[in-house]
Amino acid sequence: MRILFATLLLFTAGLACTPKVGSKIGAGPIAPDTPERYDSIGKPLIGEEAQPIAEYDLLDGVDVRPEDAAAEDTLPAYNPSHTFEHDLIHTKINIRFDWEKKHALGKATLTLRPWFYSTDRLTLDAKNFDIHSIRFEGQNTTLPYDYDKEKLVIQLGKTFTRNDEYKIAIEYTAKPDERENISGSAAILSDKGLHFINADGSDLGKPKQIWTQGETEANSCWFPTVDKPNERCTQEMYITVDNQYVTLSNGVLVSSTKNADGSRTDYWKMDKPHAPYLFMMAIGEFAVVKDKWRDVELSYYVEPAYEAYAKDIFPYTPDMLEFFSNKLQYPYPWPKYAQVVVRDYVSGAMENTSAVIFGEFVQKTKRELLDDHLGNERIVAHEMFHHWFGDLVTTESWANLTLNEGFANYSEYLWFEHKYGRDVADDHLRNEQEGYLYSMMNGGHPLIHYGYDNRESMFDAHSYNKGGCVLHILRKYLGDDAFFAGLNRYLTKHAYTDVEAHELRMAFEEVSGQDLNWFFNQWYFKSGHPQQAISYDWDAATKKAAVRIEQQQEGADVPRVFQVPLAVDIYDAGGKARREQIVLTKRAQTFQFDAPVKPALINVDAEKALLCEKEDNHTTEEWIFMYRHAPLYLDRMEAIEALLQGDDPELEKILTDALTDPSAPIRLKALGKAETSKPAIAAQVAKLAQSDADPGVRAYAIERLGKVADMKYRTIFENGLQADQPYSVVGASLSALVKIDPAAAVTASAALQNDESEAIILALGSLYASHPQAGLLTWFERSGKKLDYMNAFSFFDHYRKYLTQLNDPEALEKGINNFATTALDAATSPFRRFGATKAIADLRTDYRERGDAEKAQALSDLIAKIRDQETDPTLKMYYDMF
Ligand SMILES: [Zn+2]
Repeated sequence: MRILFATLLLFTAGLACTPKVGSKIGAGPIAPDTPERYDSIGKPLIGEEAQPIAEYDLLDGVDVRPEDAAAEDTLPAYNPSHTFEHDLIHTKINIRFDWEKKHALGKATLTLRPWFYSTDRLTLDAKNFDIHSIRFEGQNTTLPYDYDKEKLVIQLGKTFTRNDEYKIAIEYTAKPDERENISGSAAILSDKGLHFINADGSDLGKPKQIWTQGETEANSCWFPTVDKPNERCTQEMYITVDNQYVTLSNGVLVSSTKNADGSRTDYWKMDKPHAPYLFMMAIGEFAVVKDKWRDVELSYYVEPAYEAYAKDIFPYTPDMLEFFSNKLQYPYPWPKYAQVVVRDYVSGAMENTSAVIFGEFVQKTKRELLDDHLGNERIVAHEMFHHWFGDLVTTESWANLTLNEGFANYSEYLWFEHKYGRDVADDHLRNEQEGYLYSMMNGGHPLIHYGYDNRESMFDAHSYNKGGCVLHILRKYLGDDAFFAGLNRYLTKHAYTDVEAHELRMAFEEVSGQDLNWFFNQWYFKSGHPQQAISYDWDAATKKAAVRIEQQQEGADVPRVFQVPLAVDIYDAGGKARREQIVLTKRAQTFQFDAPVKPALINVDAEKALLCEKEDNHTTEEWIFMYRHAPLYLDRMEAIEALLQGDDPELEKILTDALTDPSAPIRLKALGKAETSKPAIAAQVAKLAQSDADPGVRAYAIERLGKVADMKYRTIFENGLQADQPYSVVGASLSALVKIDPAAAVTASAALQNDESEAIILALGSLYASHPQAGLLTWFERSGKKLDYMNAFSFFDHYRKYLTQLNDPEALEKGINNFATTALDAATSPFRRFGATKAIADLRTDYRERGDAEKAQALSDLIAKIRDQETDPTLKMYYDMF
């Protein structure tokens, strides 16, 4: 799955996470950090993993804590794969809903067979059901059972052998909202499995929907099953709904039948086996747009207002299916491919077999997508690639999660490389590497991690980012032909089964003929990554160039020496390079190369593929040479970053070059340093502001020009406000115009007040906070409902500043009431609740500073009330700190 945001735990100052592209959570509303550091849509978030809880067992009445026992006397923590007592062969579900009670009324008929040992009982996962009856299918006698609301143990009344297949029918009511201990994680905010959205229809701005989220083990909240990733079965779904609703489930829609009571039953059938956590339903009033790839039906389910943009929201779906099918030499293996956007989703997206669910953040207009089309492409690619890695071959246990997520992560690289070339893909790789390295500040673990504390904590920067980066290293080592042939072998051999990392290794070994234990041992079964100090020398007497590489990584479970094959490019002064291959096998090692004259540059890891930290001791001249002559985007980016740390006079010339670099991320870096007080540089920035192909570069160039506050740029800003411009450009232009002509900006803003783009709403909010005018309360109130996540924090801060600046007691009173309504609305997003409460707390600070104790006290009372009514423990904790 694709994780979108972290828990609110991450409000803690200093902790950071990657909730959404370009965002960083801090102590409150803060400006986003440099985007590229946080570019991984949610994965891996530092700080979110549960702290190990000291576990201890009660033995003979004595607490025996781990530290009391010699470590070697105790088995290490180990989360095994699920032990099979039965094989679940087929699941047939009839289901309908009680919207009012948020219940599902189901009948599940399961086909089973003992796995190996004979048995007279069956244990199923079934979370918070009312069980009405359990029978062998077609029989009247009910079977006795024990049920603790989590595990259902059925007495079969006779012993079955592994040759005996039987069918059992269970009638039940699932009550997901009434389950005790509904929990969640940073990755998946709730594990109640079955979600009713706006069930009573009271929120007029929100459609009524039902959808499911199975991963990790939550689908057993709506049907009885063996809720483990190494289980798999075929599936039939009979979903009965009121006739206005559309349904979606796995497999193909076989029939739709009108019932006498006016309802309709849709029959979905998946005839290929897949894991129970990949079962899904989505029900709502969706617009469905059809498409086709080869003979496979594609469908895009969106809210009716977005019907015209459905193919833009799920960009290049047929092209990606073609690309991945060809790359893997394994055609997309499922009977259809559907993608649906739902409201209030608990994660980013989920690869339910043949029916992917996405959160509403992907639902954008064509104009909104101008700013972040890569964001939608990467998430579409990620979920699609799971249909080979995750759905066709499935991790046998959560400890091996990278066998799902590492591949899905790497598919983003593969798609970008195919569609936009290596530079764009390498920029993505760099962000993934940084996301992982950043998360390492919170400690690491082996990529295959049998010792995890909580299975949800496996959805982190290791399983995703590191998993993808390690596949890239392996691809560069084996070569493309062997790498993709190895993937084909792995898929072909293990199709429709569960897998562990050794099976991946064996597939690569069989194809390449090489032993790869060394690679898997260090990258998959140990922790960490190489930390290298690299230095260079040239001896005029011996005519030898030397590269010394010292590995400095430390830590439990971290190899003291990584075995690292590397390409090294040795450049002459004319910019011509020859390539040498080296293999690091020691903690410190010096490699010598023939060099009649001193090389202009020695570029270690010339493919820039290694996941590592490094201190590369090039001289300034060498960095400049690297920027000008080394071939990759990553070479230039490394050089620019190193050069920006210095103050060499040459730097200005390099930055001038970098403003026209072919890669947008480097142009952005250069813009950040551009001295716009110098006319020649300002002219270059103005050019980017007018015509750069990348909206982000244009918007940032406009922002930089805005700081110059020169009327001569007015036309650029006015052009940037035109209706065909990307929203980031409009927002930046408005903010820039404010600086030279506030009245014109306020006038221009009037035409934008009905715009729903978050960038525009934020730009207007910021404008009105600094240039308040009466009569905007309704706009603030309405717009506050449209923003979520980090943008909600910023917006409520603008809103508060507006109220403060306006100096109108009646408006202030209304504003506070609006904050309170939002903060107390349990149905709204926790991000909005927090943003509104924080605004109240900041207003209280204003009162205190002005010595208005009475009003400050009134707001303290209000915050106490909000805190008391808040059900989210993390928010409560933060409110205590206000
Ligand atoms: Zn995923």
